[in-house]
Amino acid sequence: MKRVYDFREGQASMNQLLGGKGANLAEMTNLGLPVPTGFTITTSACMEYLEKAQGLTTALMQEINAAICRLEERTGKGFGDSKNLLLVSVRSGARVSMPGMMDTILNLGLNDQTVESFAEKTSLAFAYDCYRRLLQMFADVVYGISPQYFASEIEELEMTYHKDLLDFNQKEFAELITRFKKIYTDNGQIFPQEPVDQLTEAVQSVFKSWNNHRAQVYRRLHKIPNDWGTAVNVQEMVFGNSGANSGTGVAFTRNPATGEAKVYGEFLSNAQGEDIVAGIRTPEKISELADSMPKVYQEFTEVCKRLEAHYLDMQDIEFTVENGKLYLLQTRTGKRTAKATVKIVVDLVREGVISKEEGLMRVKPELLNQLLHPVFSPKALKVVDILAKGLPASPGAATGKVVFTATRAKELTELGEKVILVRQETSPEDIEGMVLSQAIVTSRGGLTSHAAVVARGLGTCCVVGCGDLQVDEQKGEFHVHGKTYTEGQAISVNGNTGELYLGIIETELMEVDETFYTLMTWADEVSQLGVCANAETVKDLTTALQFGAKGVGLARTEHMFFASERLLEMRRMILAETPEEKQQALATLLSYQQQDFYDMFAITKEKSLIVRLLDPPMHEFLPQTEKDIIEVADSLAKPVTKVKEMIATLHETNPMLGHRGCRLGITEPGIYQMQAEAIIRSCIALTKAGISVKPKIMIPLIGGVAELVATKTIIVERINELFAELNSEIPYEIGTMIEIPRACLIADKLAEHVDFFSFGTNDLTQLTYGYSRDDVAKFMPEYIEKHILPHDPFQTVDEEGVGELMRIAVEKGRQTNPSLSIGVCGEVGGDPDSIQVFQKIKVDYVSCSPYRIPLARLSVAQAAI
Ligand code: PEP
Ligand code: MG
Repeated sequence: MKRVYDFREGQASMNQLLGGKGANLAEMTNLGLPVPTGFTITTSACMEYLEKAQGLTTALMQEINAAICRLEERTGKGFGDSKNLLLVSVRSGARVSMPGMMDTILNLGLNDQTVESFAEKTSLAFAYDCYRRLLQMFADVVYGISPQYFASEIEELEMTYHKDLLDFNQKEFAELITRFKKIYTDNGQIFPQEPVDQLTEAVQSVFKSWNNHRAQVYRRLHKIPNDWGTAVNVQEMVFGNSGANSGTGVAFTRNPATGEAKVYGEFLSNAQGEDIVAGIRTPEKISELADSMPKVYQEFTEVCKRLEAHYLDMQDIEFTVENGKLYLLQTRTGKRTAKATVKIVVDLVREGVISKEEGLMRVKPELLNQLLHPVFSPKALKVVDILAKGLPASPGAATGKVVFTATRAKELTELGEKVILVRQETSPEDIEGMVLSQAIVTSRGGLTSHAAVVARGLGTCCVVGCGDLQVDEQKGEFHVHGKTYTEGQAISVNGNTGELYLGIIETELMEVDETFYTLMTWADEVSQLGVCANAETVKDLTTALQFGAKGVGLARTEHMFFASERLLEMRRMILAETPEEKQQALATLLSYQQQDFYDMFAITKEKSLIVRLLDPPMHEFLPQTEKDIIEVADSLAKPVTKVKEMIATLHETNPMLGHRGCRLGITEPGIYQMQAEAIIRSCIALTKAGISVKPKIMIPLIGGVAELVATKTIIVERINELFAELNSEIPYEIGTMIEIPRACLIADKLAEHVDFFSFGTNDLTQLTYGYSRDDVAKFMPEYIEKHILPHDPFQTVDEEGVGELMRIAVEKGRQTNPSLSIGVCGEVGGDPDSIQVFQKIKVDYVSCSPYRIPLARLSVAQAAI
């Protein structure tokens, strides 16, 4: 087994073995780009090390030593050679990027002797700055000694000598190094002077870092397998900290927040890479390089273009400038916001770089949910003052209570609070708290700081570099303009503008831009399934149509009976003691429903609108508590005992399997007749007003042919009476829900009597598995954890069982009724994985809640590609 590859031996496609960073360094080397020479130790070598837990094998050491020799040859420098010193960086690099999750050591190869000769060749300040960084990073990564100890020593000496570290003289630096080494001995360790020993320790630590807590949390979160391992990249050092003509930067070939097609990033002069990521100094914009180092800037923008053209996507590049010469340290496909994802994809298609299909496939459907992130209501914003302003690092509008530590974030969220994590800066240890927070705010750092990168990946609202805040995590308070705020303070965070406000501000939905609509249009062009909405209120119907719903696949009429005055009429109808009383209640309900349907059809117009007749069991409408029962009895002028008696009569042991759906329609025909009448009357009125509508009436919970025929007859007879009475006819359709397994098996017979089917996968799943849909939460998490189920079948359709029943129903239904229209209106109708299954089964459309419409439109397109 080969365990070490020089950069020139690898390529981008080898990322499983070389890790993402190593594979791309190899690819860039072979493209002739300026990459410092180096080699990669493979991910398999890492797993071999972790499995054996016996140090680096002789075989691996031999390969590393040989690679060092080749590196020395190519650079003309020597490891530990005081005349021409080779220093290297050691960096982890897993298959997929895990920002800040693992470790890096820079300037490896320096020791007490070589630092002196290195100082002679370069400068005192520079050489010692490199050495003290090595001591700090090595202590942290290899021995887990807190960087805080070292920072305190620097601070103390700077105070003692009244000068900045970089102005120290030889004696003062020597004192610093002595103190640093004492930190080692205080912690029972010694800094190895031999470069090869340093390297051996560093490589082992990077290997081990694969299993550190924060890496494990990150893997769990992003579903990264534990056996991938990390590669280790050893590379000749180039120095961004070697003077004013040097520096280090991170840049994106396009703006990762907005997607704007312009190089975007940050540069820190006279600094090493970790300074930027740690967010300790706030960097300058990359565009400012155009003035300070015009040649470097031009070369860099050309490199950006080349890398984008090569990788066909936006790149996130780390680079260093050493004395005016540009070096590339990393490139990878850049993480970006949902908004930027859509814009970049649309731009790349328009630029002819990728095809429409490729563009559509690149956007994860769930991402569109982020695009529809809320924003603060402009009205509410007008009346509040800005507390502070930082850099908008990840979009959204979030509100919650301030916490200062990940632990408190966890504790308060467990108590059901919404929290906002406020810190000077975040580090990978904070990951658990960041995941739980509504927003992340830091007082330091730029758009590529740890907080910003992680928040964007999580889709969490984030503001960084908010200099107006002074955060004291220890004391649990922050100060703004002389005022102090403590934990629990409610704030609102605007991830789109970088602004913070005191208190909770009302939010509303974001306006989406032209690129979003373009992507949606492209999606519709390739789709084979339609996307409809489950909606019944005017607000939801309007939203659904704005999001591009083709029509309404399910309007649940029971939702219309819960408003207070209607509920009373419903109760009057259910509790009626005489036919007259029932009739009277139904007449009032008819007038309500007629208005409801009029309003709904007036919005959907010529688009399809499927109204489902009443479905739930009667007792859901009845009062439960003593207080409510007395109130209802009072309002209906009935004795409390009588009401209680009737409630007891209506009680069912198993209501979801009981007197509901069409069973109710058959035993209480007045209800379905009333609903059919309300639909037809409102549609005739609209047609007369010049808006021709074709209502579709859907019967729930059908399990047999006789049941369907009986229910249909009740409805059709009433409609015919109405046509005669009003002397006017309109076209209409009658369909059935398919939500009982038996209905799937006799679908051919059912299809002869209806115009359409709609799969109610909620009930169909409930009845196929025999899992009560209202009680699954009690066992589902454990079932998934124990791999008894691969996923919750109420969220993603069970292809093997429920899916098979659906397939049978589709096939049988179309056998006897080729023009049968077939949809899916259960919750899984808006789930991307389920949509793949529905595409195979060949239904005509899916129907889902309004906010999932864009996601479903993209999913049906992807299913068709
Ligand atoms: C279903 O059962 O999938 C369905 C859409 O109907 P409901 O959820 O109202 O029972
Ligand atoms: Mg149902």
